[in-house]
Amino acid sequence: MTTLLITHPSSLRHETPAGHPERPDRLRAVEAALEDERFASLIRESAPLGTLDQVALCHPREFGEAIIAASPQAGLVQIDGDTLMSPGTVDAVLHGVGAAVQAVDEVMSGFVANAFCAMRPPGHHAESVKAMGFCFFNNAAIAARHAQRQHGAQRVAIIDWDVHHGNGTQEIFWDDASVLYASTHEMPLYPGTGAASERGQHGTIVNAPLRAGDGSDAFREAMETALLPRIDAFAPDLVIISAGFDAHWRDPLANLNLKESDFAWATQKLMAIADRYCAGRVVSILEGGYDLEGLSRSAAAHVMALMRG
Ligand SMILES: [Zn+2]
Repeated sequence: MTTLLITHPSSLRHETPAGHPERPDRLRAVEAALEDERFASLIRESAPLGTLDQVALCHPREFGEAIIAASPQAGLVQIDGDTLMSPGTVDAVLHGVGAAVQAVDEVMSGFVANAFCAMRPPGHHAESVKAMGFCFFNNAAIAARHAQRQHGAQRVAIIDWDVHHGNGTQEIFWDDASVLYASTHEMPLYPGTGAASERGQHGTIVNAPLRAGDGSDAFREAMETALLPRIDAFAPDLVIISAGFDAHWRDPLANLNLKESDFAWATQKLMAIADRYCAGRVVSILEGGYDLEGLSRSAAAHVMALMRG
């Protein structure tokens, strides 16, 4: 059994203004790190173009159509404070959706053991009717719904260790007991949500906020005491990781101090739960990570763990 890596060149054609942290070089750095011979056994696939029907699994169709209609012919248009569209953005975000769906298809069918989607822009801040925080469509949420609708998954667990809280994923599944959303993140920090008291309509939202300056010990304790027991008790049919690497100590957008080894450790913990309940099925989707070295080394450690390396 092998690990699938999904990429697509459209990820490099979503442009942002000079100085914007969510930039094409992020993906170049991740792809370069995964070219190392240690990753030779990865199955590599190109993402298909996602569809409006897939977007509509988690967003009203009119919202999907409005994002596509907002695409500029040239230059940049601002959708939200720090969320902009260039002429290549729609192609990039739809391939991001397509990557997430393809990863679910191949993992649920057993063709691969697990998968990592190295795509941008990220998705976890995208709410059902709001693009924000560099995000347009919520790829992880769409992946979860697709697994339920097309593959009969009953319970899907989404674990989000991006340093920012995934307000979008939380909002989409707030009153849905069939999807567990579990997050560690720095608080206070953008977007402002993610307090431990936010539990969802059915108690299937789990937030374990960390404080600026926290490092490996606090992260591992939050995982072991707050998140992993809940994911284990949920007995998921599929584990989805919103894999942001901006909690790395080098990252300029936040103030946690994680190391690459922490992401590998967390990956292994989630794989152990997936082994217990769902034949090891894990789909991981890149979210944030804005220091090129911290991002690429962390993503490499994460993928190496997925490969059981
Ligand atoms: Zn982030």
